[in-house]
Amino acid sequence: MTLTFLGTGSAFTVGGNWQSNLFIENEKGNRLLIDAGSDVRHAMYEQGLSYRDFCGPENGIYLSHCHGDHAQGLEYFGFTSMFDPTVKKPNLFLSKSLVQQVWENGLQAAMGSIQGDIVNLQSYFEIHPVEANGAFEWSGVTFRLVQTVHIMNGFAIVPSYGLLFKLGDKKIFFTGDTQHAPNQIQDFYKMADIIFQDCETSPYKSGVHANYKDLLTLSDEIKAKMWLYHYQPGALPDAIADGFAGFVVKGQKFSF
Ligand SMILES: [Zn+2]
Ligand SMILES: [Zn+2]
Repeated sequence: MTLTFLGTGSAFTVGGNWQSNLFIENEKGNRLLIDAGSDVRHAMYEQGLSYRDFCGPENGIYLSHCHGDHAQGLEYFGFTSMFDPTVKKPNLFLSKSLVQQVWENGLQAAMGSIQGDIVNLQSYFEIHPVEANGAFEWSGVTFRLVQTVHIMNGFAIVPSYGLLFKLGDKKIFFTGDTQHAPNQIQDFYKMADIIFQDCETSPYKSGVHANYKDLLTLSDEIKAKMWLYHYQPGALPDAIADGFAGFVVKGQKFSF
């Protein structure tokens, strides 16, 4: 199995990087895309891929949350596959709590009308909702959803769902978009062999992503297995000198 980052940038990244979307590929060439942002078609094109490489029944798409850099690319997958009779609907894996939200507050405005039909999210995708504390299976791998705190919207948490899964003999924790919340996710930090961590490098903290300065305070043991992604354009700090595994770069492939 391999895991490849199509891009490693923040939501509005420019200058050659793409949004932080990645995919896992098995030995048969089947693929699971993890998040589909608004620039995902360009990022896939650069890797010689298109929507066809992620349509059903063997492939799939996982959605961590509804921000545009993770969800808006679903419009591309939905429309292109619907009007291509040679492909099957893409499988869409996501927390049950996101199903209504991603359609009614996100995609419906663009995808709610097509000539001669009345459509909903199920018209475009084979939906696989995951219950709280649940998991989904793809290619023999169990992906456990790990809810993280991304935003406090007034008095309510708007979560994102990271993933915990095993490829080969390595346990991987992919944080998804998350605030710096080491107390909440420390168990996953500890049990993982490799951590892919949301890392904001802006000097101005947004509060909704873990900032590099915050991550510096983690233990040496955790930092050593932590790869950083979802960072801003521009110069980066020397993550390896600071004890991290490093910044993931666009196109970087991890083999398991
Ligand atoms: Zn994001
Ligand atoms: Zn986000």
